[in-house]
Amino acid sequence: MECIILKLENVTVFCGSHSGSSAVYEKSAFALGAHLAKENIGIVYGGGSIGLMGALADGALSEGGSVTGVIPQFLLDREMGHPKLTHLEVVTSMHKRKERMEALGDAFITLPGGAGTLEEFFEIFTWGQIGLHKKPIGLLNVNHFYDEILQLFNKLIDESFLHQAYVNQLFTGADGAEILDQFKFFEPVDVRTYADINRRQS
Ligand code: AMP
Repeated sequence: MECIILKLENVTVFCGSHSGSSAVYEKSAFALGAHLAKENIGIVYGGGSIGLMGALADGALSEGGSVTGVIPQFLLDREMGHPKLTHLEVVTSMHKRKERMEALGDAFITLPGGAGTLEEFFEIFTWGQIGLHKKPIGLLNVNHFYDEILQLFNKLIDESFLHQAYVNQLFTGADGAEILDQFKFFEPVDVRTYADINRRQS
């Protein structure tokens, strides 16, 4: 198995454009931003100033961190592009946004969020599964927010639709420090082949 020494210059963070029903969500987004900045790790995120996105950026900027936003032109107004970012990349589409957010980050952390956040998380998880990147993914499970997703993963494994090895590439924790500590143990798994399926068919 390949073992890599992770040098984290930038972490891409996916998170909600809303703040959620409890103050704990904004608090943890702000704290994650501040923690990454203190660790001298830059943040790449969706570029907005609203909801958890804004809290994350504000947390990092409060500690003098580097924050790069990647946002499509058509969302600049709706998500209120953050005015104080270190860099703001304005792109032409959602696909370009996700491509750039993948390319710029050495690892990924997902905070609570809505359907957009889940879409970003699942895309990056599946890109890892098919070998399009070899980077660790963290799920910040504040307030047990992601417990049901983790249960669902167990079901997918039990029913033989998902291999445990890919779920092992996910690191859950209640805060950024807990997740960054676990990233040190990240080892990319071999990319799945479909040889077993082909064998059954031949
Ligand atoms: P949400 O979690 O729905 O509040 O959205 C969080 C972020 O995900 C926002 O910046 C949205 O623009 C973004 N987003 C929404 N839909 C998608 C999608 N299909 N793919 C990627 N990002 C999305």
